[in-house]
Amino acid sequence: MENQETILFEGELDPTFFDEVAALPEGAHLRSCIQCGTCGGTCPVSPMLPHTPRKLFAMIRAGMKDAVLSSPTPWVCSSCYECTVKCPAEIKITELMYALKRRAIREGVRCEDSDADRFLRQFTRIVAKNGRSHELSLLMRYMMFKHPIQMLKQTGLGLRMMGKGRMPLFSHKVRDKESYSRMVEKALELGAQEGGVQ
Ligand code: SF4
Ligand code: SF4
Repeated sequence: MENQETILFEGELDPTFFDEVAALPEGAHLRSCIQCGTCGGTCPVSPMLPHTPRKLFAMIRAGMKDAVLSSPTPWVCSSCYECTVKCPAEIKITELMYALKRRAIREGVRCEDSDADRFLRQFTRIVAKNGRSHELSLLMRYMMFKHPIQMLKQTGLGLRMMGKGRMPLFSHKVRDKESYSRMVEKALELGAQEGGVQ
């Protein structure tokens, strides 16, 4: 994903967007973001994020509604909650990612980034299969074909994260797999009806 900077004119900004997002239940404490960057620094998928949570929240504050809603970041987010746990302002970062995705779907804004789309599909496959995300499988499946050189460069970091128990080697599965599979099927069916990600 390329990180392109774009010049925006004031007329292209939505001055109400920040207040709208901050008023959501998921937006609690958003006004307290101190732009410390802890979220991006702890995010296991930050190399694939065109906008870290810190940057995305700065864009929300600036009223860059279109850019925020079309950003691949919420779609690439693997919902590991690492940033949420570490955020000193107690911002519900992961929940905000979900809220932004729902808003994008409601407004018909699709994430056009093929990288993000591919990442999202891999994530959905892993969660649909095991009932839980597994960051290592996700990174391997996504990066092996798309960014093999970058993956090799990140090997040291990956090994250190595994050593500290922050990226488990094996995935864990939910206990009642049958009920879970039925629930996933129903969710995918409803998502398809609403035009969501399939
Ligand atoms: S960790 Fe929290 S306070 Fe720091 S930049 Fe991220 S969202 Fe803002
Ligand atoms: S919840 Fe999403 S944004 Fe936060 S650290 Fe995990 S992958 Fe990154």
